[in-house]
Amino acid sequence: MIKTESTGQELRLQPIATVYRTIDQAGPISRIQLARECLMAPGTLTRIARLLMDNHLVQEVASQASTGGRRPVSLAINTAARQLLAVRAGRSHFHLGLCDLSGKLIKKETVEASTDSEETFCAGLITAMRHFISANTQHITALTGVGITLPGLIDSHAGIVHFMPNITVNQLALAQSVQHALEIPCYIGNDTAAMCLAEHYFGTAQTCNNALFISIHNGVRAGMMIHGELYEGCLGAAGEIGHIQVDPLGQRCYCGNFGCLETLVCNPAIENRYNQLSRDHQPATDSYPLENKNIAEICAAAVNLEPLAVNVLKDVAKHLGNVIAMNVNLIRPEKIILSGEIAAAFPVIAPVIQHCMETGTVQGISRAPILEVSPLGQQRWLGGTALVKRALRDGSLLGQLLE
Ligand SMILES: [Zn+2]
Repeated sequence: MIKTESTGQELRLQPIATVYRTIDQAGPISRIQLARECLMAPGTLTRIARLLMDNHLVQEVASQASTGGRRPVSLAINTAARQLLAVRAGRSHFHLGLCDLSGKLIKKETVEASTDSEETFCAGLITAMRHFISANTQHITALTGVGITLPGLIDSHAGIVHFMPNITVNQLALAQSVQHALEIPCYIGNDTAAMCLAEHYFGTAQTCNNALFISIHNGVRAGMMIHGELYEGCLGAAGEIGHIQVDPLGQRCYCGNFGCLETLVCNPAIENRYNQLSRDHQPATDSYPLENKNIAEICAAAVNLEPLAVNVLKDVAKHLGNVIAMNVNLIRPEKIILSGEIAAAFPVIAPVIQHCMETGTVQGISRAPILEVSPLGQQRWLGGTALVKRALRDGSLLGQLLE
């Protein structure tokens, strides 16, 4: 139960969370409309709205439409009154961002990560956050939560890291350690899953409830939005599409299996394949030394219709498209969102992926999924922001703030 300061009455948390979530999804919204959406008596709604306004979570804004006389007011989230710290803990760097509740970036900083052991990783992360907070106190009125995203297997509900690709961890209770050190509620999650949630809150999946977000960098992973909720699976291990076998006679993957999707379509695999074929076609000579191309250069070459780059990326798109088609059959998303450097070659890869979806899925049962490039690009802090936003919407963080 939450006690209101102004009236001294007690309110249950779930109705408060329902009102907050509805305002966040539909605001600015009138009190009448809000009462209708939340199926709530006007008196209860008024008390909850007052509580949320007293805590600078919700504010009154002037409505657009006026019928003369007293100007009607609507309720909206007070996005600027509170801030949150979003961190992406990458393989080599910590990317820190101070944001408001709308995801707008106020300040950012990148520092080198400590990756010798789970102890140095944790200590380095906490030190980096402490420095960042104290260097930006002039921008902070109320630091409401911390959201940390990282690669690996993360149980976001328990706040535990089960696996990281570059550090050996033993059920690392990262959320608890950070929360204890900084005395701010902390939420953690896999970076691809969290970016899928960010697409739903801030990006291209705002208007759909079922989406598949595919991230291709050093690894390949998917985030799944099902019925408007992020689906993370047992211990947060859902979405490992990079380890779907596409070539049983293929190269050995670090997971122990052979011919995983990741061994064919991650950035290093594309670079190796292109540069190897390039050398085979045209051996380097003293007068024409061959320079290796990186993924960005290969994508640019493909868009400029260089035959080798086009062929390599069409092969990649075929493997990717076949795995996407499997997933379309399984979860039938409305949108498929591609993220990573390879998205720069979208005009080359999209027709191949579309063809795989047309030939590899059941046609006619629903509208074909829309294939898009993530509009959020390199705004990786939005993943951590989304985790904090989810905790506000589901009431878990809201309850702590109102206690
Ligand atoms: Zn594998």
